[in-house]
Amino acid sequence: MHSFRYVQGRLNCESVDLEALAEKHGTPLYVYSKETITDHFKRLDHGMERLDHLVCYAVKANSNLAILQTIAELGGGFDIVSGGELFRVLKAGGQAGKCTFAGVGKTRGEIEYALQQGIYCFNAESEAELRLIDQVAGDLGKKAPVAMRVNPNVDAKTHKYISTGKSENKFGVDFDRVLDAYAAIAKDCPNLEIRGLQMHIGSQLTSIDPFVEAAKKVTPLVEALKERHNIQFFSIGGGIGIVYRESLDSGDQSWWGGKSDEERPLTIGTYANALVPILEPLKLRILMEPGRFMVGNAGALISKVLYIKQGNAKKFVIVDAGMNDLIRPVLYEGWHQITPLQKSEAKPELVDVVGPICESGDFIAQDRELTPVVAGDTLAILSAGAYGFTMASNYNTRPMPAEVLVDGKDAHLIRERQTLDDLIKGEHLVGESAEEA
Ligand SMILES: *Cc1c(COP(=O)(O)O)cnc(C)c1O
Repeated sequence: MHSFRYVQGRLNCESVDLEALAEKHGTPLYVYSKETITDHFKRLDHGMERLDHLVCYAVKANSNLAILQTIAELGGGFDIVSGGELFRVLKAGGQAGKCTFAGVGKTRGEIEYALQQGIYCFNAESEAELRLIDQVAGDLGKKAPVAMRVNPNVDAKTHKYISTGKSENKFGVDFDRVLDAYAAIAKDCPNLEIRGLQMHIGSQLTSIDPFVEAAKKVTPLVEALKERHNIQFFSIGGGIGIVYRESLDSGDQSWWGGKSDEERPLTIGTYANALVPILEPLKLRILMEPGRFMVGNAGALISKVLYIKQGNAKKFVIVDAGMNDLIRPVLYEGWHQITPLQKSEAKPELVDVVGPICESGDFIAQDRELTPVVAGDTLAILSAGAYGFTMASNYNTRPMPAEVLVDGKDAHLIRERQTLDDLIKGEHLVGESAEEA
């Protein structure tokens, strides 16, 4: 589901009028719906209820403290990819004991921090990494819980930059080398406790087939590891795709929104019906690491129209949100629905919606049908809750946007807009340094 809909011609998030919110906090502004996050978490949690399971939200999708707090309060765990993300989870009230630590390049400092905090498991991506974890654990007099990430060599059929489960991707240990790698680690690394196996084949998967293919391929390996190393869990990763084209009419609140979905909807019903029967016989704890599914549809980026420019080839709608605020369109060819906060029935025209940044890649949408807008109008860029703010930068020395979490009729400011002073924080003129390097 999603919680953005027109009420009497004005776009609301839950029961909050977005125009009023934009006036109060300025634009660009990220707005999230707590209702959507809660609904999506519960859907997945219930879908998997026949299994001993834990939903570990992938923090990198949206790491605002209040979002993490929401997930923690729902009983979720977290999949982290850095020491910084672990720090955030702990600040937000999450438990280290429900955290898995992914990523191909963990540093010694991050490993020490995670061990000291007592995370549930390191999901290691190479033997070399496991040997370092073993060393660090030995130095700290601790035992480190570990799993290996298997690369099943399955095509996730998604954008090439978010496909992670093929042999040519940098992720995981090759399928046919995993058993040997576990045996070597078990023999050589006294400070490791082998706890599980993990995989994650890619992001924004809109078909169930690659999930099934990977699960079927890997379950015999899981059985073998259970027998040889007594593993406790199997993590099937994240990657559940969302629909980026939504219906915004109050009457239609079906989860997948509209009828015009080009992406074939992958519902939790489909996901659970296909995967639970494959996973149940393992009699292990099953972990999931959804990021986008949890927060993608829950967020919108609100942006004001600054200028309209009619060029020879195209008409440009220049808005105050740029690629520094939302990089998905240029990085992944991501498609975001754009809709005015005041509903219009006028005939749509073909435009490019572009930002203020000095880059030709700075666009939100190209060749898009949009009802005519004028300077001063406000637009919602939908389904921007995942990989939106977390990928934002200060490029062009632009302050990062504010973020608001809506809960029913309440709107909470969960991040202040950066100030000009924030933009130069920590910088020093030569001669004025706090200390010389
Ligand atoms: C990014 C990532 C996820 C989350 O992917 P989504 O497509 O957002 O669900 C899960 N697990 C790992 C290891 C990741 O790197």
